[in-house]
Amino acid sequence: MDINKPRYIPMSRRRRIYEGKAKILYEGPEPGTLIQHFKDDATAFNAKKHEVIEGKGVLNNRISEYLFQRLNEIGVPTHFIRRLNMREQLIREVEIIPLEVVVRNVAAGSLATRLGIDEGTQLPRSIIEFYYKSDKLGDPMVSEEHITAFGWATPQEIDDVMALAIRVNDFLCGLFLGVGIRLVDFKMECGRLWENDMMRIVVSDEISPDSCRLWDIKSNDKLDKDRFRRDLGGLIEAYTDVARRLGIMSENERPQGTGPVLVKG
Ligand code: UDP
Repeated sequence: MDINKPRYIPMSRRRRIYEGKAKILYEGPEPGTLIQHFKDDATAFNAKKHEVIEGKGVLNNRISEYLFQRLNEIGVPTHFIRRLNMREQLIREVEIIPLEVVVRNVAAGSLATRLGIDEGTQLPRSIIEFYYKSDKLGDPMVSEEHITAFGWATPQEIDDVMALAIRVNDFLCGLFLGVGIRLVDFKMECGRLWENDMMRIVVSDEISPDSCRLWDIKSNDKLDKDRFRRDLGGLIEAYTDVARRLGIMSENERPQGTGPVLVKG
């Protein structure tokens, strides 16, 4: 066997590294890589609400691929390597920093509730919040003090994460604005990527309508997971609209993944 060639691992024998609510991680074809598989499961309120929405995984795989590619192109480091198929992408294995980094431009969701601000109010400036990733605790909000005291990240790493968050936010705000969408807020995750003895922080996980609030600029229609959280219906149509506006899916492409579809690029 040529050890330089990536091993082909039949899907049935791939080792599952981790299964989350909406994604599964499998071992990758080469050391230092993983395969990220997008499921159709939708969960909210710490998984108390759960539904399978056919086609959601396919859409998130494509939208997240698109956004991570654009970020890679402008020099924002991410874990993304390439999309493999309708539901899977090849990523670099990173050491996940156990934080959800939320960036907000407009008041919505938990911020609106917690501080009694009307949803839709433009914030005086972008706000970054940290939540500790723990399903058991329901992802509690934490401060830099907690993060450094408990050793989840160093002060330097927090600086790097915040600098990345601001770049991602500025870039995505412009990108979405260009297709008539307001980026209200989003969540990102970061990981430590080891290259020889060097470590750098990269954007990881996914960026998709599951992890962003996206409002149509004119109508304020919600084009994101709030359609599921708030029982508004039409989630697949909204995610497909986002994909089409970004130029990812052709008009006649079916996102459901129930049959052969035209895959561009
Ligand atoms: N978010 C996420 N995963 C979470 C919590 C929040 O992707 O576990 C995203 C959410 O989609 C929104 C932003 O982070 O775009 C801010 O969410 P918020 O704190 O308002 O929480 P929510 O209203 O979802 O409880």
